[in-house]
Amino acid sequence: MRTAIGVDLGGSHVTAAVVSDDGAIHAQHEQDLDDLAFASVVDAVAAQVTEALKDAGSPVAGIGIGSPGNIDAASGAVLYSPNFGWKDAPLGEAIRKRFSVPVFVGNDARCATLGEHAFGSGRGTSDFVLLTLGTGIGGGIVAGGRLMLGHCWGAGEIGHHQIRPRDGFMCGCGKIGCFEAQASGTGLIRHAFAVAASFPRSDLLDVGRNKLSSKKIRKAAQAGDRHALTAWGNYTADLAIGLANVIAFVNPETIALGGGVSSAGDFMLDAVRGPVDALTTMVPKGTTAIEIARLGNDAGQVGAAAMVFRGGLSGDAVGA
Ligand SMILES: [Zn+2]
Repeated sequence: MRTAIGVDLGGSHVTAAVVSDDGAIHAQHEQDLDDLAFASVVDAVAAQVTEALKDAGSPVAGIGIGSPGNIDAASGAVLYSPNFGWKDAPLGEAIRKRFSVPVFVGNDARCATLGEHAFGSGRGTSDFVLLTLGTGIGGGIVAGGRLMLGHCWGAGEIGHHQIRPRDGFMCGCGKIGCFEAQASGTGLIRHAFAVAASFPRSDLLDVGRNKLSSKKIRKAAQAGDRHALTAWGNYTADLAIGLANVIAFVNPETIALGGGVSSAGDFMLDAVRGPVDALTTMVPKGTTAIEIARLGNDAGQVGAAAMVFRGGLSGDAVGA
């Protein structure tokens, strides 16, 4: 059995895991990132990879790193990352200098898509989309068995297609009404604020701003709270618009929904499947399954390792 080191690099921490080619995680090391300067982050990644390599014991197939930002997957350079404030940061090259095994770097959402396709809800499909509904919406598209990278590594930025350009929420990217602004976990909170005036006696939003979470609103909706249910209805209506658009673009066999909000499971799927069907016009209805992603928080590390096993983000399927 082959193993690889899968690294999930986020804006607040780095996790390195030993992953075998059946997608199982055998050991995991994590550290917080206090300093986001490039040299400090490289040191932190190298330190966690070193720990993971000790656990791996036998030689590994390589090191895969999933990082936020627009990434040149050929060289492993982070071309642009708002999370880190980096431009043209040679992450792959810096890690290659320290370890004598192949090193691959890819966008974190694309890596998660690869992981979910290889070992999760996309297993066995040749056309698959993952959407992670968290602070933002991360995504990736597998078409004909290969992850789409795009002309300049930008394919799969599904979160930034506009669904409400006139009356939507402001997106972090500067546009109004992006899918991410409307249908991420943050979007659910914004929907709760947007309808708050209709529920003057509701205490749903009566907590400090930093304590307000999409989880609180989701749980209140599941418990039948009217304010939360109204927000949830508007939220899932916007989510359905984006899902139907994705179906129109790529008609995948499966769209998997991950991230915190997707913990709602059937409560979410039941709310979106009907509206998505109604909004699906030219593509044959019912030909795309909408499901909950299976790998959870492990998708990043497992996907980064899958990138190693496939010999790159758009390589062949594991074991194929
Ligand atoms: Zn946007």
